[in-house]
This record gives sequence, structure tokens and C-alpha cells, in this order.
Amino acid sequence: MKGKKILLSKAMDSLGLLETLNNIDRSNLYVINYHRLYRNPLETQFNTKVFTHTEEIFYEQIKWFKKNYDIFGEEDLIQHLEGNRPLKRRTVVLTFDDGYLDNYEIAYPILKAFNIPAIFFIPYNQVDRTSVAWWDLLAYFVKNATVKAVCIAQKWFDLTQLTDRDMATCYLCWHYQLQSLNETGHFLQQWHTKLGVQTPLEEIEDLSQKEFMNWDQVKELSRNNITIGSHTMSHNVLANLILEEQERELVNSKALLEKKLDQEIRTVAYPVGKEQHFTEQTKELAEKAGYRAAFSFIKGYSKDQIQDKYSIPRMDLCSLSTSHFKAQTLLAKVF
Ligand SMILES: [Zn+2]
Repeated sequence: MKGKKILLSKAMDSLGLLETLNNIDRSNLYVINYHRLYRNPLETQFNTKVFTHTEEIFYEQIKWFKKNYDIFGEEDLIQHLEGNRPLKRRTVVLTFDDGYLDNYEIAYPILKAFNIPAIFFIPYNQVDRTSVAWWDLLAYFVKNATVKAVCIAQKWFDLTQLTDRDMATCYLCWHYQLQSLNETGHFLQQWHTKLGVQTPLEEIEDLSQKEFMNWDQVKELSRNNITIGSHTMSHNVLANLILEEQERELVNSKALLEKKLDQEIRTVAYPVGKEQHFTEQTKELAEKAGYRAAFSFIKGYSKDQIQDKYSIPRMDLCSLSTSHFKAQTLLAKVF
């Protein structure tokens, strides 16, 4: 199905239909979500699934948005949510999750060159070097496993095969998300041992933390057209935490980011962010903590007015070509 959509978008683009469609005024609001960007070739010991685009593709997308869309920063979006800023035409809000260093090194200079605002959601502990990106560690374990096969959640994986290694990483990440907060450290240690990884766990944690921005970089962004939002403290899945822990994740990350950056933190993105990763109570806690809006990772866009300020849908545009990307943002329902 995806293949057909890519071909269709290519045909529409070459016939000039995408440009024509773009001229038909439609007041849709698209919140776009990026994770990692990279320069070819992609070389990483960590999780490849969090890389969304190359620098070139990102540049093309930003150029397209600048030419064809209104681009809202956080303040514009809040004004819009409060009924003070109606959409004039297609509008995008650009968001980046997780605080990776490539967001600073690749995305930031391009956004700056085009004078485009964006919201970067920062998991406090990752930048503070007090917790680890579990999805990266688990991917590292699988890539560097010395055992040839492993059983995860009653399913066997042949680690000599690339497809099985990818699946094993997905399974481990899924399994991790089911752990309670005080079990997660043990879970990582256990799989580090089970997979026979030779590099000591602390060394892998240090390596992984170098993939993230530091506070000086986050501060620089916050003074240059980039708004910092919270991505909680630990980046654990909120729905799996008891309410007190969820509240702490939301309240503390807001307060500590505000102290660190000396500015109000007004938005939050729920970690992982699909339907099963946060609840109605999470949304109530986010509102109670003082956030003005919260973002999910549920795919979607909003017509004229956002329905739920505490579960704003986002699109990740994991398209393979510029035509497909344009089609995705012009005809989101179809593509
Ligand atoms: Zn995240």
C-alpha cells in the first residue's frame, strides 16, 4: 500500500498536481514531529529507528514549509488554542523530541537560516546525564550481543540475521515499556548479561549520553527562536507509572527546566506518545501541572481548531521521497 502511495505521489508531483492542490486554500494545522537527523552514511551503534531524515531531506522539507505554509512557534500555537489566532492557510508547527545532539548540529542551523521557530522537547535527565536512553541501550546490546540466539517474551530470535536483530530490538523496547519505574534498571542489567555484551554497562551509558545535547546547547537554542518543552524527567512511558510518579515526571521536569533556562515551560510531549502510552488522568495531570498544551505521537492533523489541547496529534513524515512528503502534508487523509 505504501509503495502505491509513493508512486501516486510521484505521478501527481510530475504532473504539477501537488502544486495546484497547494494553491487551494485549506486551513489545516499540521504538527510535525522529528527525532534524529543524520548525514549520510548512517553509522551508529545505537537505535536506527529514531533517525527520521538525512540533512538534505530535512533541508528540502523546511524549504517547502517556508514557501508554502504559515509556520507557528509555541506562542502562536497557544494563541491559536485559546481562540485568538485563526488559521489563514495551511499551517505547521515543527517539533523535535528527545534532545539529541544532531538536533543542535543539523536541524538548528537550517531552522536558523530560514528564520523558522520550533519546539524542542527535552527529557531532563538525558541532558542532565542522570538517566539513559533505554531504546538506544537495548539496540546497542542486540548489535553487540555475543550469543547467537535469544528468547524474548517467548519468541526466539536468530541474532546472526539482520531482520531478526531488528525485531529483537523492537521486542526488547516493547518489553521494557511494560516495566515499572523501579524495575527498569534491573531490566537493562539483565539483558546486558543475557546477550553477553562485552563492553561494561557504564561505558555504554557514557557513550549513549554523548549522543545528547548538553545544557549550554539547550540554553543557546532557547535564546534563538527555539522553544524548549518538557519531555518528562526519565522518558519512561507515563501510562505504566503510578499517578504520583506521573505527576512527579510532569511537575519536576517543568520546574527544573524553568530553573535551568530561566523561562516558563508551557508545553509537554508524552514519551513514546501513542494511545496506550498515556491516559485521561495523564492529560489531567499535565493540565494541573500548568502546561498550556500537550502533544501525543498519535498520527493526525487538525482542521481549523485543535479538539483536545492535551492530546495534540502529530505527523512524523517518514516519507521516502520529496513527492511523497509533499503529498502527505497536502492530502494527509489519503497519504
Ligand atoms: Zn521521546
